[in-house]
Amino acid sequence: MSRNAGYMKKLRKARVERKQCIRCGKPLSQESLIRGVKQCEKCLDYQRKRKLGQISSKVNTTYFYNRQYKKDEIKRKELGNFMVENKITIKDLAKEANLSQRTIQRILYTDANYTKKTKDAINNYLGKELL
Ligand SMILES: [Zn+2]
Repeated sequence: MSRNAGYMKKLRKARVERKQCIRCGKPLSQESLIRGVKQCEKCLDYQRKRKLGQISSKVNTTYFYNRQYKKDEIKRKELGNFMVENKITIKDLAKEANLSQRTIQRILYTDANYTKKTKDAINNYLGKELL
């Protein structure tokens, strides 16, 4: 982990205390809690598949339910400022929110649209409605 991941470390700790998945913030099931797992089944499954190379790190934007969001300069700037203030690097956020670094860079530096899935992944991970 990067030495700059202080905010995320704190957020993860708070989520463990609140019995929430450390990645998406959803409440953990009784089974997960008994097993001592810190992530929900969905996040664990995602990581397992990604490790096996079954999921590419790029977010698929072709599915119709991944509604495209209109560009929003202010929100992009808010996200950028929040990352700087909390010393969150693009690399950290990409890794922790299960997104590619390219996706994060596109959101921060270009006016490219992004999907609801991406928006949710970033907001859920940061524990704040930034996008
Ligand atoms: Zn989760």
